[in-house]
Amino acid sequence: MDYYSSQITRLIEELSKLPGIGSKSAQRLAFHIINMPEEQVTGLASSITEAKRNVHYCKECFTLTDQERCPICKSEKRNHKVIMVVEDTRDLAAYEKPESLKAFTMCSMEPYPLCWESDLEILS
Ligand SMILES: [Zn+2]
Repeated sequence: MDYYSSQITRLIEELSKLPGIGSKSAQRLAFHIINMPEEQVTGLASSITEAKRNVHYCKECFTLTDQERCPICKSEKRNHKVIMVVEDTRDLAAYEKPESLKAFTMCSMEPYPLCWESDLEILS
């Protein structure tokens, strides 16, 4: 039985494809979005499409960025001779504590999930 119009149903279906979003959460988000001011909805939609279009892997450390080199690799205040390897880009934030800032640069193994130490030598 269809409770909602086709566009509301489509929005709920698309939102429910996101990780951690069940059908009830998708409905709640859909109605929240529908009740948001149009400029906020436009901003949300454009941030999603622009991130998808422009975000790629940093050419040096393989974290996700929208620039050729990420802010960590571009920073002149960091020690680029000491590298901390993390499993994926989301792990970067966990190690970016103020006391450790500038102490090292980071390298994400996200595009190379089965990367070993010998592979890292090849990448450098
Ligand atoms: Zn980088």
